[in-house]
Formats: sequence, structure tokens, C-alpha cells
Amino acid sequence: SWSSSDSVISTDSAGEEAEPGRPYRVVLLGASGVGKTAFASILAGAADSMDSDDCELCGDEVCEKEIEVDGEPATLALLDTWDIDDDQWAQERYMQTGDAYLLLYSVTDRASFLRASELRITLRRVRPAQHTPIILVGNKCDLVRRREVSVSEGRACAAVFDCKFIETSAAMQHNVWEAFHGIVRQLRLRRDSKEA
Ligand code: GDP
Repeated sequence: SWSSSDSVISTDSAGEEAEPGRPYRVVLLGASGVGKTAFASILAGAADSMDSDDCELCGDEVCEKEIEVDGEPATLALLDTWDIDDDQWAQERYMQTGDAYLLLYSVTDRASFLRASELRITLRRVRPAQHTPIILVGNKCDLVRRREVSVSEGRACAAVFDCKFIETSAAMQHNVWEAFHGIVRQLRLRRDSKEA
């Protein structure tokens, strides 16, 4: 499955200005089990298959989809890092290819929240460009009684990280599209400020 995504990985324009019409590359980052596959499935329109075992996307780390945000089309190429969580080198290569990042943790798993902090620090090192659109995403907010990370902790963390924050539930399809739309809006803001 690694080689299938090689063409995307090796595109060496990461971090450069997008040629017109090139999809925005959005990288899903986060500990294993936080809901990255579920996010990708929702974007891909396969939201019914919450069981990642029969998810069509498995083995294909890239999902490309055109969506409409504020009346304007945007194409997102979503890169999922699900099976390279332990491979530092692969993860850093993925990180370098992104235009924007969804940094996921599970509100039911404090370790995944700490992992998100580590990933943010790594991201700052491998992708030092300023104003890189990043949203810290606290997923699984439907699991109220299993919550280990409060909303205010998430928000405070995002403030320290200098990124946006949203809580989502991929299971309930709550705020997932808001996260995708938010990342497109940030990418456009950045594009518009460069054109100005
Ligand atoms: P990944 O390892 O980050 O790709 O995580 P997955 O997308 O495979 O999700 C791991 C498990 O959590 C799966 O059983 C999902 O069905 C479940 N899951 C993902 N998002 C949510 C959510 O928002 N709420 C609940 N209750 N379960 C979720």
C-alpha cells in the first residue's frame, strides 16, 4: 500500500504555491484509533461503513474529493497516516507534503491528546512555514461518559499551538464537515493574503 501513494508523496511541490486547480493536500494526523479512517470515509461518502475493516479506503491512503465551500468548489486530497504511526520517517515525509493538517485526538483517550501535542511539535520542525492551516480536532465527543479530555483543555491546547479547534463526532457526523470546510477557508485566506 505504501507504493500506491508514492506518487503523491514524491510530488516535490509541497509547501510551494499551488498551481491552479491542484487539490489542496490535507493530512490527517493523530494516534491510532482516534478516527482518521472515519473522517476519510465521511469525506469519501462512505460514511455508513464506520467499521474500518470493510472501509473501501483501506490500502489507499489518498481520498480525493471535490466539495463546495461558501459557494466555491474546492478539491481536497486527504492523506491518511493510519498505518505509519510507528514509522517516524514515513510520518515526517507525509507531514512535508501537506498544505493543511487535521490534528486529531480522541476526547476519550488522554494519551492521544498528548500524542497530538507531540505531532504539533514535529510538524513545527518539519513544516516550519508560518500560517500553515492546522485544526486541532477532538473527536468522539459523542462518548460523553468516557470523556478524558475537557473542551476547555482542548481549546487551551489549540491556543498554545496557535491553531483552530473543533470537537467532532465522526460516529454522529457532527462537525466533521465543519472541520473540512474550516480547513478550506483557512487555505483560501492564506491564498488570498498571498495574492494581495
Ligand atoms: P484511526 O485509527 O485513527 O483511523 O481510527 P478509526 O477511524 O479506525 O476509528 C477507530 C475506532 O473508533 C473505530 O471503531 C471507529 O468506529 C470508532 N470511532 C471513530 N470515530 C468515532 C466517533 O466520533 N465516535 C465513536 N463513538 N466512535 C468513533
